[in-house]
Amino acid sequence: MDLVVRNGFVPELRKKVDIGILGSGIVRVSPKIRESGRVEIDAGGGLVFPGFVDPHVHMDKCLLLGRMGRGQDFSTLEKKIATMRELKRSFTVDDVRGRMIQAAGIAASRGTLVTRTHVEADPIVEFKCVEGTLRAQQACRDLIEMQTIAFPQEGWIKNRDGSELESRTYIQEALIRGIDVVGGNVNRSVWESDPEQQVDEIFALAKQRNADIDMHLDNSDNPVAFTLPYVCRKTIENGYQGRVTVAHIPSLSAVPDRVARRTIDQVKEAGINVCVLPSRIRLTRVRELMDAGVNVTCGTDNMQDAFVGVGNGDLLEAMLLLAQVTGMGFDDELERIFDMGTTHAARALRIEKDYGIEEGKKADMAILGASSVPEAIRSQSWKRTVIKQGKVIAENGRLGVNISGD
Ligand SMILES: [Zn+2]
Repeated sequence: MDLVVRNGFVPELRKKVDIGILGSGIVRVSPKIRESGRVEIDAGGGLVFPGFVDPHVHMDKCLLLGRMGRGQDFSTLEKKIATMRELKRSFTVDDVRGRMIQAAGIAASRGTLVTRTHVEADPIVEFKCVEGTLRAQQACRDLIEMQTIAFPQEGWIKNRDGSELESRTYIQEALIRGIDVVGGNVNRSVWESDPEQQVDEIFALAKQRNADIDMHLDNSDNPVAFTLPYVCRKTIENGYQGRVTVAHIPSLSAVPDRVARRTIDQVKEAGINVCVLPSRIRLTRVRELMDAGVNVTCGTDNMQDAFVGVGNGDLLEAMLLLAQVTGMGFDDELERIFDMGTTHAARALRIEKDYGIEEGKKADMAILGASSVPEAIRSQSWKRTVIKQGKVIAENGRLGVNISGD
């Protein structure tokens, strides 16, 4: 065997095993493998799992703090949007590609092996993010699997005061150029345009391209921004159960309990995945959605841009933050939170068939210096070994491979 990982605790199996790897695949999972590997790694009883799956990031506009300087006013959403628009005007394809490769390296070094990133396409940035992303996706293929979403950050249809720009044709073209998933930015409390019209057009485009849907939805604690029930109805009407993800939906926390209960039942019936982003603090009804059996995932969202000044692509950190803001810090609750950035996210990204520490699956895994899931989240274990396609790509937070892509 090329590599044997010994004495690793696999949470799905609830026991310690040895894992034998040949080439890029797992060939043996057993309590004791007698054969030696060309390379041997002693997990020391630490957690071994198939890597984090980060279902919601914005890598195209990551790592911009150096361009903003200090002392800027980010006190309102409008100011953040205005700053971000200015920054986007100077983006180039190479610049986007370079920052994305850097961000992918940071995420992979922390144990993320699959990520789904939003990619902006609009009259300001045109297709620079799209082209930069497609190049970064290719350059990073031995490091991280990148799914891509065409995202209308600046709006869907042009409005009178210019706060919303016509982006729908750019989203359509982004898909033609190779972006995987149709995104949306549906928020009745911010955008003047008709949210139902945007949802209808998103479904029409998705069906035309046979693409999944992943939209920013109702990102407001104002109950007027509540298009979620409409999205549920459209998902069922279009036969898109299991293929739609909605991110944020904090307004679900602002509507009356009976409306929320009815809507959560509809979300479950429509098979919609819900992604929560704890870095925004303002959250949806996380626990109620989970208790209803909805597939709820957790992502890291932005990484050091005009919207979020922190953010480091570390899903284990996002899990700790989620545990703190939801008060879900006990062992069984932390295990549920861990699922949100692993198995649940894999289901939302529809990669669950390939995901797992099992014979016949890809040799993609992360080894943490903690003997259980709750301990890993609480201790934020920095001892992390990351294996992609049978090769060690990172140890203790340091990337061991060159990903310049040149
Ligand atoms: Zn987002």
